[in-house]
Amino acid sequence: MKHIDIYEVLNKREIAGSEVTVCGWVRTFRDSAQVSFLELSDGTSFRRLQVVIDKTALTVDPECTKLGASVRVKGNVVKAFKGEGNELNALSVELLGKCPAEYPIQKKRTTLEFLRTIPHLRLRTNTFAAVFRVRSVAAQAIHRFFHERRFYYMNTPLITASDCEGAGEMFRVTTQPWNASYATEEEYYKNDFFGVKAGLSVSGQLEGEIAATALGKIYTFGPSFRAENSNTTRHLAEFWHVEPEVAFAELPDVIELAEELLKYLIRAVLDECPDEMAFFDSFVEKGLIEKLTQVANADFAVCEYTEAVGILKKENARFQFPVEWGCDLQSEHEKFLTEQVFKRPVFVIDYPKEIKSFYMKQNQDGKTVAAADLLVPGIGEIIGGSEREADREKLVAAMRERKMDMSAYEQYLALRTFGSVPHGGFGLGFERFVMYVTGMENIRDVALLPRWTKNIL
Ligand code: ATP
Ligand code: MN
Repeated sequence: MKHIDIYEVLNKREIAGSEVTVCGWVRTFRDSAQVSFLELSDGTSFRRLQVVIDKTALTVDPECTKLGASVRVKGNVVKAFKGEGNELNALSVELLGKCPAEYPIQKKRTTLEFLRTIPHLRLRTNTFAAVFRVRSVAAQAIHRFFHERRFYYMNTPLITASDCEGAGEMFRVTTQPWNASYATEEEYYKNDFFGVKAGLSVSGQLEGEIAATALGKIYTFGPSFRAENSNTTRHLAEFWHVEPEVAFAELPDVIELAEELLKYLIRAVLDECPDEMAFFDSFVEKGLIEKLTQVANADFAVCEYTEAVGILKKENARFQFPVEWGCDLQSEHEKFLTEQVFKRPVFVIDYPKEIKSFYMKQNQDGKTVAAADLLVPGIGEIIGGSEREADREKLVAAMRERKMDMSAYEQYLALRTFGSVPHGGFGLGFERFVMYVTGMENIRDVALLPRWTKNIL
């Protein structure tokens, strides 16, 4: 279909004076005696294109003026009568698809809860269209960030036999009939597609380490799956995961990389999505742009877990789950630290080994591991990372303590046998990042078709 993007019509100065064809959906219609106005959106820009219809010269099919209808308009581009940019004086308006009055996206703002029930149409609203334009810009920026730094983009398998960290959180992959019955679990899996228990990957990290210990610096950016029962505003069953892994790196290097990435992404979104960000600032989170600008320019805090627990214990009265050394930090604790104590993003490092994964580097104290979680205001944990245990004996000991099945990790252990190197990396939840920069409060509103327990719309 020969036509040009509304973005170009609005923004290209030199286009004024020429005749163009645009396509889009009707967002508003106003009528007066002599002229009527259609506002069109084709998704390419936050701002809509105003189409001016001179009623003395042109008769338009009333179906073309209904909210949600799709049309093709030929017209002359002129400088907008009011405001910046261009508008279009219509020469013809042609109906592409009509839209009945039951169209659920009406002019007045509907609730996010309601829109969640119509995920297939909610992208036609300003809010959701803006979220997904920002999401796309952020995704491109992730690839750019790593590419500029010579990180190689790896695609790790989504089907895996190793239950990395998510004991109980792994979706099973099976081709066995629903009523298959076997005397033992072993027999069941023996007859299954892979001959062993398989599932959807909760993280590409273990495979990422294979690549990093050969290519030096790698990252993955793909989906991870977690059968979490937690019905929270921060968890999805399927989310996108950015996981860099770096050879010849220790914990401070991992922290530096995470901070650099987050700042880079914030700047990219602020630079490339000014209209969207202004909208979020006005209607979703007041002061968002100011907050993000500060974050992009400030040093993030670093705080040892032990120190964090000391701070939190004094505040135990305010928490639903009181804090003790050794406990995992809950979202309420994470938010308190970043929002009330540090008032900026903070890395909490050196967690007790019992609450972290087997592969994290064991610290000298014998009690903690070289982990670093990045906590940000409004969300809590956005990044989880660590230096990995590079010493084979120590790693084997940690696996034994956890009664892990060593045979499933032979490849992983081999990386520690043949030229082992200090290395580390982290996982950034992409949807959590999109929430953070848009101010959206529910992760279900930043994924196209979000999946969570009992929800696969
Ligand atoms: P949480 O404690 O919030 O569940 P986690 O400790 O399980 O997070 P990691 O295993 O370290 O998280 O995963 C790395 C990152 O992936 C997290 O910091 C978060 O941003 C993101 N993430 C983890 N689980 C989910 C999920 N279910 N939905 C969306 N993002 C997630
Ligand atoms: Mn989790």
